Amino acid sequence: MEAIHYSIAEIKLLERMTYSSRILSMEGHDDFNQGQVSARMPGRKSFFIKRAIIGFNEAVPEDMIPASVDCNEPLHPEHPPEIFLHQGIYEARHDVAAIIHSHAPYSLVFGATDLDIKPLSHDGAYFQGRISRFTDTSQTILNIDAGRAVAKALKNNQALFLQNHGALVVGKSIREATILALLLERACKLQLMAEALQRPYSVSSNEDVEGKKGFIYDDTAIKTYWDYSVRKINQLNLNNWKPLTDDADY
Ligand SMILES: [Zn+2]
Repeated sequence: MEAIHYSIAEIKLLERMTYSSRILSMEGHDDFNQGQVSARMPGRKSFFIKRAIIGFNEAVPEDMIPASVDCNEPLHPEHPPEIFLHQGIYEARHDVAAIIHSHAPYSLVFGATDLDIKPLSHDGAYFQGRISRFTDTSQTILNIDAGRAVAKALKNNQALFLQNHGALVVGKSIREATILALLLERACKLQLMAEALQRPYSVSSNEDVEGKKGFIYDDTAIKTYWDYSVRKINQLNLNNWKPLTDDADY
């Protein structure tokens, strides 16, 4: 990638995607080098995606390579094999500016059950009624028909379990998608812990759930969780890449 060809806004997006990758790794989303993060400038017919081979933990801004939403455009050898999942969703959802797909363990196990996400924790409250399930296949998404089928199953939801495969979340920004990916994994983990006790457990009331969606997870709060996560990456010295800008606003 030659950064010089990109606008400042695009360069910032590549840096945010790099932080996103490192945050996902830090919070338990690694499965060797599998999983993708992608993002686009609002309204664009093209997007950036983490290239194949590279894991979340090691991605640098140069690993975020351009791709077209149009599946008739030629693919690049470094595009990840599951690029079709991203093309299918960007094609169908104009409101989506970022997609994260991972094989995070608790989300994967939860998606293999017939459980619905419940408002056991704050995280669960966010996803109650906002997540769907893709059951057509448990295979990797390797063609545009499968990508479109995933987009159809997602509907207007915020997240989706790919049964016996993993999960994905979508967002209106890379920051939002990243934080939602962390929330989904935590919601699944906490509910699976409660289910394992084989004892009744309480959940939040509908009124509390609505309140949580409007306060704990409004845009301002999500930005603070993102900023916190960026600080954590820096504190743990996981930001070992060469910055493309000297602007510290990620
Ligand atoms: Zn996958």
